Amino acid sequence: MATGLKPRTAAELRTAYLRQEMFPTIFCDGCGIGNVLNYTLWALDSLGLDLDRTVFVSGIGCSSRLSGYINADGMHTTHGRALAFASGIKAANPELTVIIFTGDGDGAGIGGNHLLHAIRRNMDLTVILVNNFTYGMTGGQAAPTTPDGSFSTTTPYGNIEHPLDICELARALGAPYVARWPVNVPAQPISSIAQGISKRGFALIEMLVPCPTAYGRRNGLKELERSWQWYREQTVLVDEWEWIEQFGSPEERAALGGKLKIGVFQDLERETFEDRWARLVARVRL
Ligand code: SF4
Repeated sequence: MATGLKPRTAAELRTAYLRQEMFPTIFCDGCGIGNVLNYTLWALDSLGLDLDRTVFVSGIGCSSRLSGYINADGMHTTHGRALAFASGIKAANPELTVIIFTGDGDGAGIGGNHLLHAIRRNMDLTVILVNNFTYGMTGGQAAPTTPDGSFSTTTPYGNIEHPLDICELARALGAPYVARWPVNVPAQPISSIAQGISKRGFALIEMLVPCPTAYGRRNGLKELERSWQWYREQTVLVDEWEWIEQFGSPEERAALGGKLKIGVFQDLERETFEDRWARLVARVRL
């Protein structure tokens, strides 16, 4: 659904979409959350979305500050509750485009139950989930996504919990659009965010993002280039992963251990909550 217009520069997007009085941002040097904001703006611009008909909702955490930077209606809500607020907004105003910014701690830890049920209902929401493997703003504690063996303020001897794969969870629950990308590849996230917004039904785009302050400095990833190198070495495209699982040698399959799949996990059509709700209302009114 491209507008056919020449893409605007980052500076033009910043003027067109952001609240100038909010700058400079709160983000630390080397934080990847700003990349996610940029990619979202490019996606919005490619769709030609009317910001007066778009609402941004977020919970608590560094990435949840993003809703405040965009010059549109938004809600900065309580910890883990962004999807509950977003579901209410969409149920009351189904014609609005509702986009949620959340983190791995906010969206999959504190708000994990809301995530399950929003996907199950298949509400027409787009979730941009920023995964930096930690609770960044609240002190660098281990999150549900913290990799095996990683150090955090609550795992000083290394994390012994199995990390949650949010995209596999969303795929299993039938979310119509599910994708995961690291921030070091701009084109794919921009395309996925645009596809997620265009998709009728629940869309989850998980972004792998460096947090040099809370996670990186404890795990040898304080330098931005090290983080980006980690993404290059520790991620495998979904198709390649599934081919190795099916046809790869034992050594190739073993080499997948601890790595993360990236790419589009799911892209399908499924009746939405809004469709079912409209049908129910029509039936009850007869
Ligand atoms: Fe980014 Fe981490 Fe700093 Fe938060 S604490 S702004 S996630 S680098």
